Amino acid sequence: MSIVDALNRPLRSLRLSVTDRCNLRCHYCMPEDEYLWLPREDVLTFEETARLADLFAEVGVDRIRLTGGEPLLRRDVPELVRLLAARPWLRDLALTTNGVLLADAAPELKRAGLHRLTVSLDTLRRDRFQRLTRMDVLDRVLAGIDAARRAGFTGLKLDTVVTRGDNDDELVDLIEYGREIDAEVRFIEYMDVGGATRWRPEAVVSRADMLARLTDRYGPIAPVAETSSAPAERFRLADGRTFGIIASTTQPFCRTCDRARLTADGVLLLCLYAQHGTDLRRPLRAGASHETLLRVIQAVWASRADRGAEERRAVRDRGAFIPVSVLKRDAHLEMHTRGG
Ligand code: SAM
Repeated sequence: MSIVDALNRPLRSLRLSVTDRCNLRCHYCMPEDEYLWLPREDVLTFEETARLADLFAEVGVDRIRLTGGEPLLRRDVPELVRLLAARPWLRDLALTTNGVLLADAAPELKRAGLHRLTVSLDTLRRDRFQRLTRMDVLDRVLAGIDAARRAGFTGLKLDTVVTRGDNDDELVDLIEYGREIDAEVRFIEYMDVGGATRWRPEAVVSRADMLARLTDRYGPIAPVAETSSAPAERFRLADGRTFGIIASTTQPFCRTCDRARLTADGVLLLCLYAQHGTDLRRPLRAGASHETLLRVIQAVWASRADRGAEERRAVRDRGAFIPVSVLKRDAHLEMHTRGG
């Protein structure tokens, strides 16, 4: 059975955040010194997560992305991959990682049945990587990417958040690196989601700006015609290479958003910008029946009218979406809790 929300959008894709912890401190996501973490006892077990995933499958989900925080910080995450990969309803199982721990994890993730990997990579320069993430570990990320390829992951994606004055001079280098390792780069516009406490409009490099810079270097760029709900719009260079742009800030794609998010402690969120969620952990742990939980998920999705990114675009004098003082009281508003 599939369901649609108040704007007639189906529920197809589920992003499972498996931890709120991260081993990097990216300037656009975790720039503060101190964070409020989810209590460990609230974090769902893999069996609980898989049980909830089965419920989502009953209402249309057939794609799952594991994210975080940094998902590879969660001990035994290949075990969750194994549990999910065995589900007959699952068509696509992907994981987004910063790559720091990937070198060791890649073979096990492959054996466990993970279909696809996306690695976040904002720069190829060591000093810059350290400045932007507060960790000197670019070599480990590159080794992780290498290990993923050797483990047999094809169709690798590299996600790059482009911010003005930080890495907007590396678009070409990243595309060239992607060509060398047979990965597709996706440039992401800087978003003012929770966590991005230093966001300001001038720091956003728009899709139009990125295309203009790449056209200067590569000549005409053609859009790739696709009908999909994927957030990235894909483009082809004259030599056939492709890349993507996720224009969540200047050209949001709320109208086709078929994604739900589940935090590591079982809170269901309907939008990256949602300020409230629905706690599924409590009823799950209190012994709610399959039907009761299913009815909750159905009712929540049926009433969904969120268009967070579109509403943000309409805001004048835009700054950070959630002030630090509010983030410090509610971890669920943080990007690293809800997963990217
Ligand atoms: N730790 C993993 C990683 O680095 O890929 C997964 C979690 S991370 C929150 C997921 C994605 O969200 C990353 O690609 C990250 O760059 C992106 N992200 C975080 N904050 C963002 C922001 N303010 N604007 C755009 N993308 C952001």
